[in-house]
Amino acid sequence: MAELGVGRPTKRRAGSAVGGLPVADSRPVFAGDAVLGTRCSACRYPSSQRDLPWCPACYAPMVAERFATTGPVWSATVVDIHVGTRKPPFGLAYVDLDDGPRVLVHLAEPAVLGLGSRVRITGTDDGDLVATEVRS
Ligand SMILES: [Zn+2]
Repeated sequence: MAELGVGRPTKRRAGSAVGGLPVADSRPVFAGDAVLGTRCSACRYPSSQRDLPWCPACYAPMVAERFATTGPVWSATVVDIHVGTRKPPFGLAYVDLDDGPRVLVHLAEPAVLGLGSRVRITGTDDGDLVATEVRS
């Protein structure tokens, strides 16, 4: 049996700190002016996962891509329970990046943003994307 995680990008997460197994980290990576991901070389399908072996839509090869850090909120909520090391309340949102995939972000403020509100990803917190609302 192959050893778990060998040959795949892994990162220690909360589970491994308490005796669980390290797992592949599929969270999007923020690079200052872009969110890193991949895009299908044939059908242009975007993904925030950087280690996809092939396109989930058409099985063509994926190539590295840089996506915009802005986009509209697809869904948002405020979480009022402890999750891992996160203390409530904190805001979560799914954001459709302007030229890319839908990504999960933590909101800088624990507020429920209206659907379609514009946000900008400004950084990371413990590996998760953090976004703030863009007011025009
Ligand atoms: Zn494809």
